[in-house]
Amino acid sequence: MEEPLKQVYVPVVATPGGEKTQLGVLSSEQDAWDVMRAFLSKAGETQVVKASIVAWEIDFVGEEGSFELATFDRKSCPVCSDLSFWIEGQDEGARCYNIRCGVWIEENRFEPDRWDCGWPSANWNKRSDSFESAHKGLQEMRAKSNSAGMSERMPSREAWLDEKDRERRTIQQRKFAAESELLDDES
Ligand SMILES: [Zn+2]
Repeated sequence: MEEPLKQVYVPVVATPGGEKTQLGVLSSEQDAWDVMRAFLSKAGETQVVKASIVAWEIDFVGEEGSFELATFDRKSCPVCSDLSFWIEGQDEGARCYNIRCGVWIEENRFEPDRWDCGWPSANWNKRSDSFESAHKGLQEMRAKSNSAGMSERMPSREAWLDEKDRERRTIQQRKFAAESELLDDES
């Protein structure tokens, strides 16, 4: 038998003025994280600066029926400088949602007082002993890559958008070609 539902999870985002928008009501915590991460990856064009996942008890009578499971704060990225860097909780972790960058900081699950950070597109990882030093580590990685000319190898935003545009056009052309073949078959 399925476990009866005890909690629901609500991803919420907020603007600097405190205006909140709920992104849904989910019965699984994992789904709430998926919805939140999908939003954060596209938050670039929005005014949203804060986000949280709130767990709500079901059939609870009283004032304390909800608690914040996770919070997110928008900052500028130490590597790509975009406002796509989201810090989780009280410096519990962080991730840049700019897909050309993707730097991250995570507390190591197995070793106490160990923090890992990485920059996937440069294939670099580093370990640190605190969130702050991991953050500094990322800035150092960026400085090193600048001096090694690596930033030139990272495509500019325009080049990247052009590339995406080209991909989209190719897909549309293929679709169009397939459709017109179908039409030819029918006639
Ligand atoms: Zn970044």
